[in-house]
Amino acid sequence: METTEELRKKLNEIREKCLSCRKCPLFQTRHNIVFDDGIPNQKLMLIGEAPGYYEDMQGKPFVGKAGQLLDKIFASVGFTRERDVYICNTLKCRPPDNRNPLPDEKEACWEYLKAQIEIIKPRIILLCGNVAVQSILGSAGGITRIRGNWFPPESAIVDVYGAKMMPIFHPSYLLRNDSREKGSPKWLMWQDIQEIKREYDKLAV
Ligand code: SF4
Repeated sequence: METTEELRKKLNEIREKCLSCRKCPLFQTRHNIVFDDGIPNQKLMLIGEAPGYYEDMQGKPFVGKAGQLLDKIFASVGFTRERDVYICNTLKCRPPDNRNPLPDEKEACWEYLKAQIEIIKPRIILLCGNVAVQSILGSAGGITRIRGNWFPPESAIVDVYGAKMMPIFHPSYLLRNDSREKGSPKWLMWQDIQEIKREYDKLAV
């Protein structure tokens, strides 16, 4: 098994290439490339959608209110970014006005996400929001219907190196749906993170 430092070194080579990327028009409006955060961890990886305003300004995924909520969800089961989770996005540059990524943009940016998955080879991948689900699971279904379910590696439309996957709600969606009542999106998220922790605890590495 590779050490964290070895994984970081490989990721840095990809990051360097990404920093000067002009493969799609989003390079024209970005302030920063948003490559990753957290720890290169062969257990758990979270893939989000695309950078928003704060991510673009800071060059870091999941900051601002959505990032704080994500950290709170992690903390409820004892996870921290620094120790337990590698975080990245489907796209590395912000689409204008936070619109959904276009198919051509996703295709152009895929080489970086592909490399991140290939280097880390995580045992569990969390697909955070519809854009991440579509990129990895294709037309498996909308997030509301399929969240909280485990998907085996064979169900991915790309090579995920044996990872099992769970779609989860994006924290931005949870911010827009504030109820904590049983059956609400927030309540479901709190069930899902507990299931994720149970699976994480079973991993030997
Ligand atoms: S979104 Fe991806 S492919 Fe497009 S310019 Fe940014 S890094 Fe390159």
